[in-house]
Amino acid sequence: MPLLSVENALQIFKDNVKPITAIKRVPASESLGFVLAEDVCSTLNVPPEDCSAMDGYALCTDDLIAGQKTTLKISQRVMAGHKAQPFERGTAVRIFTGGQIPVGTNAVVMQEDCEVDGDNVVLPASINPGNNVRPQGQDINVGDVVLVKGQKLFPQHIGQLASVGIAEVAIYRPLKIAALSTGDELVDPGSPLANGQIYNSNRFIMAGMIERLGFEFIDGGIVPDDFDITKDKLSAAAQQADVVITSGGVSVGDADYVKPAVDELGHLDVWSLAMKPGKPVAFGHINDTPFFGLPGNPVSVFVGFLVLIKPYLQATQGMPWKEPRRWKLPINFERKRSGVRQEYIRVSLVQGEDGEQRLESFSTQDSGVLRSTVYSDALAIVPPNTTVKQGDLLDCILLDELLNN
Ligand code: AMP
Ligand code: MG
Repeated sequence: MPLLSVENALQIFKDNVKPITAIKRVPASESLGFVLAEDVCSTLNVPPEDCSAMDGYALCTDDLIAGQKTTLKISQRVMAGHKAQPFERGTAVRIFTGGQIPVGTNAVVMQEDCEVDGDNVVLPASINPGNNVRPQGQDINVGDVVLVKGQKLFPQHIGQLASVGIAEVAIYRPLKIAALSTGDELVDPGSPLANGQIYNSNRFIMAGMIERLGFEFIDGGIVPDDFDITKDKLSAAAQQADVVITSGGVSVGDADYVKPAVDELGHLDVWSLAMKPGKPVAFGHINDTPFFGLPGNPVSVFVGFLVLIKPYLQATQGMPWKEPRRWKLPINFERKRSGVRQEYIRVSLVQGEDGEQRLESFSTQDSGVLRSTVYSDALAIVPPNTTVKQGDLLDCILLDELLNN
């Protein structure tokens, strides 16, 4: 069977996205991390009127003597939040940052550039109209689209909503995502290990990703390597969740029951992906519920979730389709012709003596070594059939970005 490229797999996922339509209205203060379900327009100008960008003195530049210092009487004080009095021509106005610029003034001089002499202020030469004035609507104008539908709400977005007086927003209900860990050998931490058993890492990787990305985690638990139980557990998960994800059991070993179980419940494609780690990956539907099957090795779960499943989940959550952003950085390692699988090498960002960042490969790239994810900052992408050497530039994706947007 020819290997399917990561690019083609992502295209299939993209073609299968059915964005959620369930919407709820929440206070904007509780919308952090959710996805906006409507465009938000402003009914206000921000700032509402011309105001000062500095603590200083407002004046009309026509009142200045060209090319030399000018002394003007200080006629009023305007603090932020207080109304300015009508402006008296030929005077200066003591003003503070955010203070309303009196009609008739057109510039502010910062206080550090002025000398106060009793009731007068001595202003420097050459002040241009508009200096240190924040014009009305500099940030937002009436009618502007402040945020667009599909925007995931981070603190700056909620701040911007507040700036135009929005107290409530429509968001998409977060997807419910069930994750199941398959394998007779698995035990959850808290119970002792018997001979041949290992602790279940994947549950925690998947749960962490799901919650970190703002979805609701449904714990499908550990599924033993048994056809009937696998089928029952998958069927139950598909009834509760918007998307079902499993780890393990998608290879072609004797104990791999995910494929036959999903085949009976719905439809399944299993591919060998041209990807390392993470070769066997399944995608299909259990009834109408989308299903992803990741391989069992924890690094494959980590990489496969972020690279393959995250874009699909976010698009299903109503966000625009977005694949991980790539940064080009020089590498500090060598790798002989990589074969037909695109490799995602766990690397650290190390600052060289020249101050430049370089990518240093973790010593072991075995997909069972989870430490390679713990001690890495990024995944460096080695394209198929490529030899790379010290100093070459490679695309990498930063784990911080993958897990924080
Ligand atoms: P599988 O894909 O089921 O053949 O599993 C591949 C490898 O990953 C085996 O060594 C499994 O023991 C290991 N593995 C499977 N599931 C988990 C899990 N949830 N946590 C840690 N290791 C796992
Ligand atoms: Mg297994």
